Amino acid sequence: MKLLKARAYFKNITEISPEFLKENGISGLILDIDNTLIGHNVPLPDEKTTNHLRELENAGIKLCVVSNNTYDRVKSFTEKIGVEFFVANALKPRRKGYIEASESMKLALSEIGAAGDQLFTDVLGANLAGCFSIYTKPLHTGGEGFFIALKRIFENPFLPKEELL
Ligand SMILES: [Mg+2]
Repeated sequence: MKLLKARAYFKNITEISPEFLKENGISGLILDIDNTLIGHNVPLPDEKTTNHLRELENAGIKLCVVSNNTYDRVKSFTEKIGVEFFVANALKPRRKGYIEASESMKLALSEIGAAGDQLFTDVLGANLAGCFSIYTKPLHTGGEGFFIALKRIFENPFLPKEELL
């Protein structure tokens, strides 16, 4: 079950500092959308999150949104938050989306961190692709629908205790 273990755990995407990424040899960061950048049914990230993305970019970290969502939604979201690269219909945890992201950012998979809130899609996918996997606590876990709620139950044994996040 090593593949379900993230290399790093954070409460929120805004806690991932440019220094942390650089210390780990990371020059690009893959971002999940739902429950990582925005909560459920919220159209855009809050100001703190948006500012943090700018801080990462200013420090020379390339950003790429990789989502299983549709092309139209991912494209318009990425434009609104000012991120240049994106991959839609990524089919995470399959490697395809991560490879496309690495080609867009012109970085090796090993130089890329991938952050997301779901172990079975984001963390597993990052590990399978050879990226540095980063788990971020879901922003909001209510109203996600039956299948995601069910997946969360199965995630629990593989997650660190709340106080360690
Ligand atoms: Mg998500």
